[in-house]
Formats: sequence, structure tokens, C-alpha cells
Amino acid sequence: ERRALAAFTHVAPKTHDGRAIEVAANLGSEAEIDGALGFGAMGVGLFRTEFLFMHGKTLPSEDEQFRIYARVVKAFDPHAVIFRTLDIGGDKALPGIAPEREENPFLGWRGIRMCLDRPHLLKPQLRAILRAAAVGTARVMFPMVTDIAEVTAARALIEACRQELMDEGREAGPLEVGIMVETPAAALCAATLAREVDFFSIGTNDLTQYTMAADRTNARLAHLNRADHPAVLAMIEMTCRAAREAGIKVGVCGEAAGEPDMIPRLLGWGVSELSMSPSLIPRAKKIVSET
Ligand code: PEP
Ligand code: MG
Repeated sequence: ERRALAAFTHVAPKTHDGRAIEVAANLGSEAEIDGALGFGAMGVGLFRTEFLFMHGKTLPSEDEQFRIYARVVKAFDPHAVIFRTLDIGGDKALPGIAPEREENPFLGWRGIRMCLDRPHLLKPQLRAILRAAAVGTARVMFPMVTDIAEVTAARALIEACRQELMDEGREAGPLEVGIMVETPAAALCAATLAREVDFFSIGTNDLTQYTMAADRTNARLAHLNRADHPAVLAMIEMTCRAAREAGIKVGVCGEAAGEPDMIPRLLGWGVSELSMSPSLIPRAKKIVSET
């Protein structure tokens, strides 16, 4: 079985009807690059930048972030790397930032909500990503979006950062902008949001948690935390339809992207990128090729 899978590691898989599908990796650090390339990752569909912020004693500077992002982008060239802006808050503390105690951290001040309130965190990150986009194919996406105003504000910040870089005589590359669809609000408003972004990436972990009203870390609720529940499938289908009608790309970067039973359904709805833990990539490529 291992050998049979190994044969798929380095293929660029297509479905029987000829659709090319990107099978990419979810990464949290540059230390995982070589492993992901070894499993045949076609780029990075989700780079979780929060780990760069949580592990040190101080926050990483713009230059430190740029060096890391540039290395990742170069390593996966010509494939794209999607950097997700800092997805933190609620129960997770950052060095130098006192966590606010919240009754419901998963419903709290996290993700893009916190970042838009803290431009001194978000702007250096956006500047670093724009600079990395000049050395390879970088994309950016925002987590925990629930309202179109968040997207408008985030895009305005990107343009402000681009202008600053130009004024300083620094290079900023072309940058596709996307959002994670991981809240029911985003799925329900997907048709509107699709007009404002270049791509969607469905985060099935949080989309399941919020649709099912079941804490994803609570083992007692594991039977409810299923991306193949009809309620969650309806959210995913709705998101894919909105993407199709608006003519934008849709990928999946939650756990469901690597699940054998989910892959054919996702492809049927028009998903063109699946991003997952690197070790799951060869099996996913095999399933794509057999679909
Ligand atoms: C998700 O919510 O599905 C996701 C991919 O993001 P994270 O697991 O980092 O919340
Ligand atoms: Mg999430």
C-alpha cells in the first residue's frame, strides 16, 4: 500500500474528466518545507503564521518575517504559497500583549477581528508578505471573516502598505487576496464576499465547529464535529456555488481536504485546490486521479 501511494507522490493529479487539481501542504514553519516537498506538495495552501509569533519571546519584525516568507515562497516556486495572517486571540496570548479574559474565546476577539484593531501587528506582516510576493508567488488570506467590512478594511490596509513600500523605493509583488470561509456568516454571504476577493479557502475545522455549535476541542462532542454532516455539507456546497458563479477559485484547507470520502464531493462542487498535512498528500493525489 505504501509503495502504491509512493507512485503518486510526485504526480500533478487530474480527475478522469481532465481537471488539474493542486494538492498542497498546510505548514506552520519553514522547518516543515523539506518534508512537504518530499511528500509532493504542490505549494502551500495554508501557512499558519501564528506559530512564528507564539514561539519567540518577542514578536518577529517585518524583516524577520520577510526572510522567512521569502524562503518559503522560493522553496515552492513555481507553485503558490498562501500566507494566512495572524489567527490568534481569545485564549492564546502573544508576547507583550496581555490576553483579555473572555467568556467564549472561540466567539471572541480573534483572527481578523483582533488584527484590524491592532494595525501595528497586521501592517508589518502585510508588508513582509508583499515583499515576499516580489520573489515568488505569494498570496494572502484572512481568517475568521464574518462581515464584508472586514474584507474592505483589510484590502485597504494592503493597498496602504503597497503605497508605503513604493514610497520607500522597495519592491512589492502582485498579490492575490483571499479569505477563509470558516464561519456560517461567511458561507451564507459567500455570493457577496466573492465579489471582493480573488479566492476562497474553506476552513472545514472551524466551519464545522461553528455550524454544529460544537467546540472542536471537546472530545465529548466528537460525534458532532463532522465535516460530512448534512449541515456542514450544505455550507460547503453553498460556498463553492458562490465561487463558481463569481468565477473565483475555491480551495479547502481544513482536515476534510485530506479525507478520502470528502475529496470526490469537494471536487464535484468545483474545488480546485486541496491543502492538508503533508503526509496525507500522496493518498489524496491517488484519490483525485481515480475520481
Ligand atoms: C480551519 O479552521 O479549518 C483551518 C484550516 O484553520 P485552523 O485549523 O488553523 O483553525
Ligand atoms: Mg480556522
